[in-house]
Amino acid sequence: MASKLYYAGIDLGGMSAKAGLFDPEGKMIAKSTVKTCKEEGFRATAKHLAGLVRELCSAAKIPVSSVGGVGVGTPGIIDGAAGIVVAWTNFAWENVPLASEISANLDGIPVRISNDANAAALGEAKFGAGKKYGDSITITLGTGVGSGIVIGGKIFEGFRGGAGEAGHMTIVVGGIPCTCGKRGCFEQYASATALIRDTKRAMFEHKESSMWRISPDPDTVNGLTAFTAAKEGDAAAQEVVKNYIMYLSEGILNLVNCFRPQAIIVGGGVSGQGEYLLQPVRKYVDEHLFVGFDRIPLAIVKAQLGNDAGIWGAYALAANV
Ligand SMILES: [Zn+2]
Repeated sequence: MASKLYYAGIDLGGMSAKAGLFDPEGKMIAKSTVKTCKEEGFRATAKHLAGLVRELCSAAKIPVSSVGGVGVGTPGIIDGAAGIVVAWTNFAWENVPLASEISANLDGIPVRISNDANAAALGEAKFGAGKKYGDSITITLGTGVGSGIVIGGKIFEGFRGGAGEAGHMTIVVGGIPCTCGKRGCFEQYASATALIRDTKRAMFEHKESSMWRISPDPDTVNGLTAFTAAKEGDAAAQEVVKNYIMYLSEGILNLVNCFRPQAIIVGGGVSGQGEYLLQPVRKYVDEHLFVGFDRIPLAIVKAQLGNDAGIWGAYALAANV
């Protein structure tokens, strides 16, 4: 008998939660958002998330009983097998049984949880840029560097959900201090935040740079400033971009040397640069890999699902597809 079950995927963030409802054919048929608040505690958050699923069901005019499972991508260290948030420091959550609490608010519907970056990686792997590949690693270049490792179509979570934190690989020993308390982490060099910091520094060192014309007020510098000026031929901006690409590539090649996936998927705002970013990254990675692309091919591609990657990955968790 063909399954007629619906599934819900939720992407829980610090300020809000986004959710999608998927029909038995795997099509997203409804989408909604609810505000979350760290003061409210996990039981209230679980209630809000369950309410979000009920709201999606009523929007789609289906009974809650036809939902076969709910997946949730949440920040923090997540033990997926146990359904526990081991730690989410922003919300002061520690060993919180999030999955069972949501399930209890949804008449016992099975709930599976994973880290949000892992869920986004699973979404890209199953439904986005990684569809053709069984093994892929997704890195998201945003405020930090998020990452998720998918091997054989499954998230590699490590012991108690501790794996997949590529943003905190050491790239420079004794380097720039990181929010995690360590120095020289990958995300201090390859995040959009790092790019903006380096762009501003180059601007103050090069008053003649066309970056000043693009962003006359240093407070308006963003991840585009250096790339735009570099494309116009501005030498200082080209230096910023070259440096950024070097660090990004070094991080990628560390991951590839360890896991040798078929694809590296690059998401987040900076990935909007497309081939202008990825082509030199491919060249650098190929030149520095232990085993080059001639022996073992590697796709380095742009993410496709944007902000919905987490919802799709949570759906994949719920439906076990
Ligand atoms: Zn760090």
